[in-house]
Amino acid sequence: MALSNPLKRLLPYLLSGTFLTTAMFFGGTRISKGQVRSDGLLPHTETCDFLRSTRLPPADSDTIIYYGRDSTHLAFLQDNYARTAETEEQVPDTALTLWENMQTLNDSKTIMGPALGGFSIKANIFYGYSKMSNTVGLWSSYDGTVKITNNNRYSQNYRLLCQTHETIHGIQSANKIDKDDMSWSIWDFQRACMADEAAAQVGEYLIALEFYHDSIPGLLNEKADISAKVKGRLLQEWAAVQADTLPYARDLAAVGKSEFYTQFKDQWWLDFYNNWTLNYYIRCMKNNWLKAPSGKTYSLESARKSGYISPDFNFTAGLDSMPSNLFGTNTRMKQAFDYVECARLGRTLGEKDSVCLAAKARLKKEKNIYLGVDMNKVWEKLADPANKLDALGVMDYFAAELKKNLPAPVGNKSKIRRP
Ligand SMILES: [Zn+2]
Repeated sequence: MALSNPLKRLLPYLLSGTFLTTAMFFGGTRISKGQVRSDGLLPHTETCDFLRSTRLPPADSDTIIYYGRDSTHLAFLQDNYARTAETEEQVPDTALTLWENMQTLNDSKTIMGPALGGFSIKANIFYGYSKMSNTVGLWSSYDGTVKITNNNRYSQNYRLLCQTHETIHGIQSANKIDKDDMSWSIWDFQRACMADEAAAQVGEYLIALEFYHDSIPGLLNEKADISAKVKGRLLQEWAAVQADTLPYARDLAAVGKSEFYTQFKDQWWLDFYNNWTLNYYIRCMKNNWLKAPSGKTYSLESARKSGYISPDFNFTAGLDSMPSNLFGTNTRMKQAFDYVECARLGRTLGEKDSVCLAAKARLKKEKNIYLGVDMNKVWEKLADPANKLDALGVMDYFAAELKKNLPAPVGNKSKIRRP
């Protein structure tokens, strides 16, 4: 998912949550990745009718299977898509600007551009415009598409940054690191989501710096995506790393590593993806996809692959750890996560299980404000098309309801004012 700065505070996230749960799950199992070879790319062992009938045959090898890539699932694109390996004549006018962007990346004298372009050819990614209300870009590992907003307020440079972001998600899919384990805790889901999103966001910054270094400042000046503050910081970091004698790729990776950690200081960004994770985890719980704890956790090894661009360039390879605070100053969000995790233990282990009882006792001791909230009601409201609240907003709504209905404390009745 890619976000636009000016829209950030206005955007509900529900649509993407719905999209991912419907697009990435089938019969309760996440099937978007299929069988992955040891080098991280799926073998091309099947060819569906749709692929045979499209303009460009898939590559013989190193091609990912997208289970949703059939005419029904891709109907929204109709013929309005571009693929990097196509010629200008093959691409319809409706997707030409997206094709041009991929050529710009592929032909650039950068490390990342040709790597992203090359991957998009091997992985046979479709790029198409789409009407979007909550994000400006969306990767789907189910059908191997990158959707970019058709809102014409955005420049071509802006869209190129989005295509970079979403193509990085494509690489993450191919490397299997966006695959959630259903026995994970909500905090593991959170780490997985945020590592992938931070890497995709930082990838945008790095390609902008690379073009700037090649005397093409347009991407770095794209204010809708890179604020003046971020641009200033990037230029400062870039100047600092270039002061040594290390090779260019090492300098670029150093900025990438530092920016990865800086991303976790953006409170709005943390709130957005925490809300997304909260919504997603609740949906998984509702659908009975979550499993009891198995001891498996999201690994640092996966986070280190989140910024993998090519065998020669991975700006997260040197991560020392995942940031420890993924909530920033949002204590309500932290409490909501604690409560939802406790609800997961109750559902998967049983309410009487000692692990669940201990978790509940801990929440009580910490005076968790969501204790007692009915998760059935939470997901009912989240699934209601008329609902405008985000996941935390819905949790807050029911916590307030609970408070309103509390019995008056004994001996203190006169002080309770009922509305
Ligand atoms: Zn994203």
